[in-house]
Amino acid sequence: MLQPNFDPEPTEVRIYRCGYVSQCKARGCQIRAALIAEKVDTAGRHVRQIELCPLHCEIVIERERARGLEICDRREIRLR
Ligand SMILES: [Zn+2]
Repeated sequence: MLQPNFDPEPTEVRIYRCGYVSQCKARGCQIRAALIAEKVDTAGRHVRQIELCPLHCEIVIERERARGLEICDRREIRLR
């Protein structure tokens, strides 16, 4: 697979509540997503985001933390 070499390096993962209906993006998961994991780079710019169910969100948090990324948990912040 061709990878662009200007791919921004994510340094932080922000966890939000998912405010819209979406299925968990983990492979084979049929559960409705309740959370969003957003990766941002050093400048705080959005890199990518994925919708996840609570279980897969925990897995992603553990994995990214192990890779040295900062985890910013914003689940408790009420949106709108
Ligand atoms: Zn899931």
